[in-house]
Amino acid sequence: MVYGIAELHQHKTFLTKNYLIRMIYSVETESCDRVVLKNNCQKIRGSYFLFWRKNLVDIVDSHCHIDFEQFDQDRDQVLQNAAKLGVSRLINPSIDMETSQRVVNLVRRYPNIYAAIGCHPYQALKVNDEALVSLTELAKEAKVVAIGEIGLDYYRDHAPKAEQYRAFEAQLMLAKSLNLPVIIHQRAAAADTMTILRHWGAGGNRPGLVLHAFSGDAAVVEDAVSLGFYMGIGGPITFKNAKDLPGVVQMMPIDKILIETDAPFLSPHPHRGKRNEPARVVLVAEKLAQLFDIAVNVLVKQITANTEALFRL
Ligand SMILES: [Zn+2]
Repeated sequence: MVYGIAELHQHKTFLTKNYLIRMIYSVETESCDRVVLKNNCQKIRGSYFLFWRKNLVDIVDSHCHIDFEQFDQDRDQVLQNAAKLGVSRLINPSIDMETSQRVVNLVRRYPNIYAAIGCHPYQALKVNDEALVSLTELAKEAKVVAIGEIGLDYYRDHAPKAEQYRAFEAQLMLAKSLNLPVIIHQRAAAADTMTILRHWGAGGNRPGLVLHAFSGDAAVVEDAVSLGFYMGIGGPITFKNAKDLPGVVQMMPIDKILIETDAPFLSPHPHRGKRNEPARVVLVAEKLAQLFDIAVNVLVKQITANTEALFRL
């Protein structure tokens, strides 16, 4: 069975009865990473194959926007692509009040998708008393598992900083009162985000939290670990110009890592720039397995356990 597929292009993934098989690199590229080879791959007829036992593969994409219009034409197909690779569950965060309602409607129809509700920092001006009451109502739905994505974003000034702090803190308090974990978005605002979270996290007695699309430095990792936060890793870890990120990720305890796509954004290498989809979280898992020098099955098992613990799946 394996011999017949040796000519396929690199990064091709296919499924047999007992294995999920990914062809990693052909010999011609001469770029196969030794670490991957040692732990995960077999060389067959000049090409390298990664074998995952199907029954061990159970992956959660901890952050994707499958409700976005980019998936309106082929949502069911995209979900099938994910399921074929073992991506069995998805967490779909919201960015404003409209998407919060839309995501709740979506998860009613799809048993394997879970919702997070809340307003992204771009929407800070919309977070008023009425919005907080609506979010509280929506949170009564059984499949609402988190508040998010909320946080600070100084990269684009869609809302003044003072408004962002107010909206962020109000939603953090809401999460505490509802005892729901939190999905944090921060961009170019790591220091202020951590100051607010340190204050919020002090004294214990609060739900869990993930820093989604982690982009901090070693100091942020140290802070996050001391506060018991999880860190979400996605497509950027696979980029050729990932710079310091791989080194920073290697400092993280594996039991504090989640994997995510942020689909339709941040497509991993070699699909960078194209529409992302949850199936590609597999590429993030493989990259992390290389970085930690462990078998991808072992890594995925731990990360799925982390995700289940945070979101109480
Ligand atoms: Zn997102």
